[in-house]
Amino acid sequence: MNTRGGGAAEKSSRGEVTTDVVNSGVVRRVDSLGRVAPPKELRQRLGLLPGVKVEFFVDMERGTIVLRKYEPGCIFCGAVANQHYRGKRVCPECVREIAAGR
Ligand SMILES: [Zn+2]
Repeated sequence: MNTRGGGAAEKSSRGEVTTDVVNSGVVRRVDSLGRVAPPKELRQRLGLLPGVKVEFFVDMERGTIVLRKYEPGCIFCGAVANQHYRGKRVCPECVREIAAGR
């Protein structure tokens, strides 16, 4: 298996830290409708069952797209959040900051 990159962490558009991408070694052809299916083994390992939402992260300089299982995040910081306030997802840390008036 091929690997690429120097191990440096990067900030994504949502402010989350992402680590380097590893080459899966799989090559697929884009079909006439622009679709590409991730390999079955990766879909199974990442829980990408039919109907699950995914989100795309793009690095235009490197020509790279990273696909990730979509987990709705805090409306303020993007962190994974299970709490709701008035119908919006908010993480515990932001709830504490709001409560403290910061
Ligand atoms: Zn937050």
